[in-house]
Order: sequence, then structure tokens, then C-alpha cells
Amino acid sequence: QTAMSPEESEPQRRWSDLVGRIEAAQQAYYGEDQPTISDAEYDRLMIELQHLEDANPSLRTPESPTQRVGAPQRITDFAPVEHIERLLSLDDVFSVEELEAWIARAGAEVGTVRYLCELKIDGLAIDLVYRRGRLVSGATRGDGRVGEDVTGNVRTISAIPQRLTGDDVPELLEVRGEVFFPVADFEDLNAHLVEVGKPPFANPRNAAAGSLRQKDPRITADRPLSMICHGLGRVEGYDFPSQGRAYDKLAEWGLPVSPYYKLVDSRPEVLAFIEHWGEHRDEASHQIDGVVVKIDDISVQRRLGATSRAPRWAVAYKYPPEEVNTRLLDIQVNV
Ligand code: NAD
Repeated sequence: QTAMSPEESEPQRRWSDLVGRIEAAQQAYYGEDQPTISDAEYDRLMIELQHLEDANPSLRTPESPTQRVGAPQRITDFAPVEHIERLLSLDDVFSVEELEAWIARAGAEVGTVRYLCELKIDGLAIDLVYRRGRLVSGATRGDGRVGEDVTGNVRTISAIPQRLTGDDVPELLEVRGEVFFPVADFEDLNAHLVEVGKPPFANPRNAAAGSLRQKDPRITADRPLSMICHGLGRVEGYDFPSQGRAYDKLAEWGLPVSPYYKLVDSRPEVLAFIEHWGEHRDEASHQIDGVVVKIDDISVQRRLGATSRAPRWAVAYKYPPEEVNTRLLDIQVNV
């Protein structure tokens, strides 16, 4: 964080203040799995920082939270693992208008494309590496380049195969997904934690992160964690033409993929998907904090590439926060 000095301009002071608050929230959220502010409040701070940097571009340094993934490098109990390919975040939009603007921009750049709409799973990102079909590493996202080695814990999650099946399994498969805590089991875990005198988790997302990031894999093994794949890193020995076809293949090899995704060819269909899931959020087995819209064709994805923190071929539409999260968080913060 930049030290404040009397010569600092008002925007600079505001920038330092916002960055300080965002980094403190990131440390609590990513480092301790115990957030100190609600996600909506965090998103508001990030949006204000974005706007401040838009108006004062000289404030936008490469270290700014708007330019990087996750928390700034921090001390952790886990060994570092360098991802083969960067594991990025997603750009957010918070309204249908912003989403339409994103689709219009993508359309202007790459023409008519097919979109893959899927649910944004509210868990934590995991990077899995399979060599010749054997699981050799599992790591958290970290700063997008270097994550934490949680291989031992990942091996306790029954949804994640130790070995892939099939005669066309690639030499190297780096696959990304979300580890999540099934909503149905969340209340039971918190009741148990309170019973044994431990603090409950604010929401299933934090329960997933707190359960995966345990020094003792036996504790992780006791928690009903699950996982869904949603992306690819480096792949050697197999060529995927599209995101949707990749999901089909991953499922054939025994990896868990979402039953809820949909391929669509038009903007109204994207909006209908968002509206549908806005009304049926409770029906998925995991918590949802939005919908992710991806350009399906992988050659187009490659052409568009990524910024320092997110791919240009995907966008996350975030639903307004569910009240229950905020309430749970308030209770926890107030005790
Ligand atoms: P993000 O959670 O908004 O989006 C990026 C992540 O979404 C990806 O890394 C991936 O792991 C995940 N994801 C889930 N479903 C996916 C799918 N179908 N396809 C692709 N990716 C999918 O961004 P972020 O950078 O991880 O975190 C920012 C968010 O985390 C904030 O908006 C806030 O909600 C929360 N946060 C809260 C606090 C707090 O203090 N309360 C602090 C930090 C972050």
C-alpha cells in the first residue's frame, strides 16, 4: 500500500484508502476464509476503484487490485505451485445493459458467435494437473500464477478422479474448476462447528475454501466437498474445438462437469438463460452468484486472449446478492 503524504492529491488519497481496504478484505477472504465485509460491499469498493482509475489513469499501476488476480502474495501454510498456464479471474458486469454492451463489443470484434452460458459456481477455483491420465497436482488459484499445493486434500474429494478413463486421454491435461460446498450440507456443518465451540462459516463458499485449505487432509475428507470443471489450462495431446465439446470429453474421461450449461446463438437466448436462473437459483446443488457467458469456439478464444486479470472471451454477470448471505455475515461479524 502506498504511504500517504501531505502532498498527495485527493484522488491519490482516495486510491490509497480504497486499496488498503480492498487488500485487507482480500487477506481475510482468501487468506483466512473468514470475510470481514459482505461480497456486495467488496464489489462496491472495487467498482469505485475502477471508476477512480478511469478518471485518473496514472493511478492505475500494475499492482492495483483492478489489474491482478486474487490477493497480493501472502504468507501461507502451503507449498507454492506454479500453474502451467495462468489461472485468471473473470470480468464482472452487474446489469443487463452492461452485459449487452459486452456482447455488442465481442460481436463487433469477432462477428456472430455461439455462446456457452453456464452457472457461476460460488466456490473456490482449483487447478488440477493430469499426466497420462493420473492426477499429479491440485492447487488453489493464488495470484493466478502461483497457487497453494493442496494435492493431498484434493485427493479426498470423491468427485475428482485419481485416474482418467478412456483410450484417448491426453499426455498432459491442466483443467480448472470450482470446489464447492453443497448447499444442502452447509447448515449441518455450521451447527456442528458451533457445537464444538468453533466459529461458523459465513456462507458455503467460505466453507468450501476453509475445508479445502486444511493442513490435515483428514478434516477435508470429512467435509462433503464437490467439484465442477469450468476451464482448461495447458493441454498436450488433444485438441478441443470448443468449450462445449471439451466439457463432453472431460465427462467421458470421468471428470465432473456441470449439468446446467447451455449453448445459444443469440443475445435474447443469453438473457433468457440469465432470467431463468435468476428465478431458479435455489435449484442447483451449489450456490450461484451469477452466470458466466463464454464464447464457445476455442480458436476465437485464443484470438481474443486475456488481460492481466481476465480472459476477453468470457464475462460474469453477477446477480444481486442474496439477503441470507449478508444476514449470516452480520451475525458472524457481530458475535
Ligand atoms: P469472481 O469470483 O468474480 O470470478 C472469477 C472466478 O469465478 C474464477 O476464478 C472461477 O474460479 C470462478 N468461476 C465460478 N464458476 C465459473 C464458471 N462457470 N466458469 C468460469 N469461472 C467460474 O472473481 P474473483 O477474482 O475470484 O473474486 C472476486 C469476488 O470474490 C468478488 O466479487 C466477491 O464476490 C468475492 N470477494 C469477496 C471479498 C470479501 O471481503 N467479502 C473479498 C475478496 C473477494
